[in-house]
This record gives sequence, C-alpha cells and structure tokens, in this order.
Amino acid sequence: MAMNAARSLDTVSSVVDLRSRVQAWRADGLRIALVPTMGALHEGHLSLIRRAKTFADKVVVSIFVNPTQFGPTEDFAKYPRQLDEDRFRVAMAGAALVFAPTVEDMYPPGFCTTITVEGPSHGLCGAVRPGHFQGVATVVTKLLLQCLPDVAIFGEKDYQQLQVIRRMVRDLDIPVEIDGAPIVREVDGLAMSSRNAYLSDKERSVANLMYKALHRATLALHDGTPVAQALDTARAEITAAGFGKIDYLDLRDADGLAPLEAFDRPARLFCAAFLGKTRLIDNIPVEPRE
Ligand code: AMP
Repeated sequence: MAMNAARSLDTVSSVVDLRSRVQAWRADGLRIALVPTMGALHEGHLSLIRRAKTFADKVVVSIFVNPTQFGPTEDFAKYPRQLDEDRFRVAMAGAALVFAPTVEDMYPPGFCTTITVEGPSHGLCGAVRPGHFQGVATVVTKLLLQCLPDVAIFGEKDYQQLQVIRRMVRDLDIPVEIDGAPIVREVDGLAMSSRNAYLSDKERSVANLMYKALHRATLALHDGTPVAQALDTARAEITAAGFGKIDYLDLRDADGLAPLEAFDRPARLFCAAFLGKTRLIDNIPVEPRE
C-alpha cells in the first residue's frame, strides 16, 4: 500500500509538464497548493504538506537544492540529496505531484535576472549570508510563476525568509496566498532541519540547548528583564553549551523585523550559531502579556 502510493506519485522535472498537470486540475475546478523545499525531507516539511492539504485539493511539492541561495563557502555540494526517499515521504503525506527540476532547467545558459527584496532581507541572515535572500526570492518567484498555485506554504523555521516572501508577493502583486506554518521540533526542543544530519552524536546531544536558552530568555522578558540583559544571558548559555560563533541573537519586531531595544510589542527572538561546522538557526515568538 505504502510502496504503491510512492510508485503512483507523479514526478515531473519540466515546467511544461508541471503546467499541464496544474492546468488540468484547474479545469476541474480544483484548488492547488505549492510547498517549496530543498529535499532531505523531515517531519517539519511533512507538516507543511499536511497543512497544505487543508487549504487545497492538490498539493505540489517542489524539491530543488537552489545553488543561488548558497554562498561560495557554504554547503551546496554536500547538502543531502535523496529524491527516492523524499518521494516516498511526499506520497505518504498525501501530496499529488513532485516537481524536481534540474539546475539547468531552472537556470538555463544566459539566465541573468535576480529579485532583490530590501526591508526584511536586511540584518539577521541577510547580514551574514550576502546574496542569500536574492537567491531565495528569485527561485521562489520562479516556482510561483511556474506552478501558479492558489496558496504556497512556508515554515516559520525560516521566519525571515517567510517575511521576505510575504513582502515580495505583496510588492510584485503575485496572485498567491502565502501561509506560514509553525516550527516542528524534536522531542528535546531542537528545531527539525535537514542540516541536523551533519551533527555528530556529541553535537546532537547539546544542539537543543540553543532552543532552551531562547526559551528561558522569553520567560525573562516576560518577567521584565531588560532586553540587553536577557540576550546577554542567552548568549552566555549558548556559548557554555558548546556552540562556537554566534552569528546573531536578536529580538525583532514580529512583522517588519526591526530591531527592538524594549519588549513592547509582538516580537520574535532569533538566533543563528555554529555547532562545530554546522550552522543552526532558530526563533521563538514572544508577545507582551495583556
Ligand atoms: P528547506 O528544505 O530547508 O528549504 O525548507 C523547506 C520549507 O520547510 C521552508 O518553508 C522551511 O521553513 C520549512 N521547514 C523546514 N524545517 C521546518 C520545521 N522544523 N518546521 C516547520 N517548517 C520547516
């Protein structure tokens, strides 16, 4: 039964084939959702697919490791690729189609267009990964125009990315609804990520301590601890847990992502730090009590 579902799941790699499937569904009056991913799928990705099914009749999952969002010293070459296993998981989660283009399909010779979103791209990951959000915005624009879904689902795990995409879709009048899905965590609190596979057993055993430190910082903020002090304590705890370079640990406005010196409105606490060679990111919402 499970194997049959995976076998019968359609996979297309060309835009022509993707469009003909989507157009046929549209002709039948069906609603379509797109879940963009880079593969190496885990429960976090599958939660997006299940959520998409509540909004739409047919769910398309794109699997594409997008080279333009990786910096020259980042992990593009070693990023995990496991299409067969991913197809099985996608089928089990109930999606209707996998779109798995090649790099040449997405960026044919002569490709020279880039989407730049200012505002929410500034700071946080945008400050330490130059060009990253241009790569994300460009590939997401292409995926949205290739598929033309009614709704596209993105995870709050990459909260800054979600805000960049929301802004871009508004600014460019792309006719799609953007939905943000909550972070799925391991039982010990570590946010699920394809990059967790890089962690050694020892690193994995302490990786959740970033989340624990962020969580304690949100409690301190609720207790009236000044922002700078709560962040300093969290930074010290993350370092003591064995993390190396902390790219950022920041309280930001939940919508526009402006830095906050005082905790006086709905906010999010963001962190990116290295554990060995692996860069982990996480964020948690923190809202002032009534
Ligand atoms: P990626 O394959 O890492 O590009 O992620 C594809 C989508 O899955 C993005 O919208 C991510 O934000 C989302 N995602 C990744 N990990 C999680 C998670 N732990 N919980 C919820 N969504 C996630």
